[in-house]
Amino acid sequence: MMASCSRSPFLTVAAAARRSDRRLVVRSVQAGDGAGLVDLDLGSTDSPKGWAAYPLAVARALLAAGHAIQGADLLIDSDVPIGAGLSSSAALECSVAVALCALFGIELPPMAIALVSQRAENEFVGVPCGIMDQAASMCCRAGYALFLDTRTLVAQQVPFDLPAADLALIVIDTQVKHDLMGSAYAERRSSCLEAARLLGVPALRDVPAGEVDRALERLAEFGDDVLVRRARHVLSEQARALEVVSRLQAGQPETIGELLSASHRSLRDDFEVSSPELDTVVDVANAAGALGARLTGAGFGGSAIALVAEHDVVAVETLVNEGLAERGFGAAACFTVVASAGAHEVTAQ
Ligand code: ADP
Ligand code: MG
Repeated sequence: MMASCSRSPFLTVAAAARRSDRRLVVRSVQAGDGAGLVDLDLGSTDSPKGWAAYPLAVARALLAAGHAIQGADLLIDSDVPIGAGLSSSAALECSVAVALCALFGIELPPMAIALVSQRAENEFVGVPCGIMDQAASMCCRAGYALFLDTRTLVAQQVPFDLPAADLALIVIDTQVKHDLMGSAYAERRSSCLEAARLLGVPALRDVPAGEVDRALERLAEFGDDVLVRRARHVLSEQARALEVVSRLQAGQPETIGELLSASHRSLRDDFEVSSPELDTVVDVANAAGALGARLTGAGFGGSAIALVAEHDVVAVETLVNEGLAERGFGAAACFTVVASAGAHEVTAQ
């Protein structure tokens, strides 16, 4: 028997040292624009532009939560693709938060650091993201998927050792970003809130599984087809997510592909957050033998993921790029990812 193929995880690393003043001096190998220098006590209107806003935001969120941090020098290095919908921003925030906590002796559980990092992105960078990316950056374990309840913040580890099952998860980055993302996110969110309000539940997840069809019929009576489709996506996605968890717990990762593809169809037709490039990637990957594929992240560009038998990886990657070229789209960057550990201190002082 062949040993399972081991791939190294994508990592963001933050090296940190104390300073005697109250400044953060931040450098990133990827930014390559020299040091960003920010005063911890700056007024919020003086926020730095560009990437230095993220580490400063984390420092501010720690201060706002009552943690006594001082000045620090930070050096960031990362091979997480930036701006591809894979949350390099959460990786940056969480690695900086872990580094600052370690440096100043602040002991916080992983989910608390995720919340600080989310607050940093929401309040101090101004991106209204949820908790999922930061929770994954902090709480994941090698070989497991994270099943996260974003209401209770209960997180459960679900077996996801794909190499052991001769499977691979390919990320296919279309390298296209559409401007729609910000406004569409707010629109989808308000449609879901409105659908929940009409149904008389706090959130769509509160519709019991056995009452989904009835709830959609009731919504249809209000005559807004768009609202019905948005709700149908969320309600069906909820069921698919639970089904994926139970199949992974049963040790059947090879069976979740069809659910990924069903999810993509729902994101494309009901939630309407796909793009022609992403649809092409998903269709071609499936035609080339992938077990399933879907867009990932916020949509309107960015990346898709495909579940593929290990021996089909090269063929799927090649055919996807051929398919994109045939339709006049630019080449995608493809890489295999593994479920790896969340942010943690790597060297004690
Ligand atoms: P994503 O999180 O999907 O990668 P975002 O637009 O949310 O995309 O975050 C990307 C931004 O995060 C970059 O524009 C940059 O400001 C910052 N960033 C992420 N990683 C790094 C890094 N290694 N060095 C400097 N800035 C980074
Ligand atoms: Mg991000």
